[in-house]
Amino acid sequence: MKVPLADLHGQYMKIKPEIDAAIQGVIASSQFILGKAVLDFESAFAKAHGMRHCIAVGSGTDALHAALWGAGIGPGDAVVTTPFTFIATVEAILLCGARPVFVDIDPRTFNLDPVKLGALLSAPGGDKIRGALPIHLYGQAADMDPIMKIASARGIHVIEDACQAHLAKYKGKTVGNFGETACFSFYPGKNLGAYGEGGAITTNDDVLAAKLRQFRDHVQVEKYKHAFSGHNYRMDGIQGAVLGAKLPHLQEWTARRRSIAAKYHVQLGGISGLTLPFESPESFHVYHLFVVTTERRDALQSFLAGREISTAIAYPIPLHFQEAYRYLGYKAGDFPACEQASKQCLAMPMFAEMSDEQVSFVSESVRMFFRD
Ligand SMILES: *Cc1c(COP(=O)(O)O)cnc(C)c1O
Repeated sequence: MKVPLADLHGQYMKIKPEIDAAIQGVIASSQFILGKAVLDFESAFAKAHGMRHCIAVGSGTDALHAALWGAGIGPGDAVVTTPFTFIATVEAILLCGARPVFVDIDPRTFNLDPVKLGALLSAPGGDKIRGALPIHLYGQAADMDPIMKIASARGIHVIEDACQAHLAKYKGKTVGNFGETACFSFYPGKNLGAYGEGGAITTNDDVLAAKLRQFRDHVQVEKYKHAFSGHNYRMDGIQGAVLGAKLPHLQEWTARRRSIAAKYHVQLGGISGLTLPFESPESFHVYHLFVVTTERRDALQSFLAGREISTAIAYPIPLHFQEAYRYLGYKAGDFPACEQASKQCLAMPMFAEMSDEQVSFVSESVRMFFRD
């Protein structure tokens, strides 16, 4: 039985009339950039997260850069994040001219460890840190209460990287309601995916929202009149329309992801040598990825590939080991939890259209591997 990691085509076939009509609507209106489709999507996405504002941009990377810029992060500043994330989180810090500083993850959740954040802020150089960028990795919110407590005591900005965590919750509140901004990606494979690039920033701050709207569109206060220098980070009309057509399904898709995760938890329970994802009781995990860990990761991945089951490693190389960031001066052993996770993590197939038979086939195959 062939089991892909995700199935974008299968999702399209289920909602084809809605998507086709939405795309046609943009073509008929000729509002190819921003326009009504994007504005409507912004209001709907903000509402879905219980937020006042949503600013749609060209990608999750654009969102992160704009949010950091909005916080006033610039040259001479340092921003803390973990080395166990997609590189875009760190690129955004560098785009502001600031320096990334890494802190290790909690090995159970793979998210920024608040205790280590506190220690870092008190260590020499801690006074340069003006921002923290916790990631809600794999769809599970970071431990936001202690992070916000430490951050507000130190007066540092918190930007949530929610690129994998649409509709995720922490202590009953949707992501985005903790930091001053949250950044989302609509890369096609994310829980809510565009038919191209897309991203968004959410915030409850009216002044900041207005600033970010200007920043994404060359800061044109009037046509050809620029107050300062910005970017072209606008969302396409067609992406806004596709996202607007998909958003009403997101809750149901998220429920299905959680039900698949629950099935995996039952069917893969009690295998020695295999650790299943830890779902913190404080969090409503949206399972962008269902990530297991095992010392026999590479062998398990090949075995599953032999049975036509696709899996993924997110992320195989910690960011402090990347050639691009060698100049930051970190070395092996600096972030042991992250280093171990990168050696042992494996994402199982996970998508809302996945059938119960496919879930069982994956689970049986994993059991078979560990029996031998
Ligand atoms: C996908 C992702 C991004 C970047 O989003 P793009 O839309 O691809 O630019 C940033 N951070 C994390 C954690 C992501 O998963």
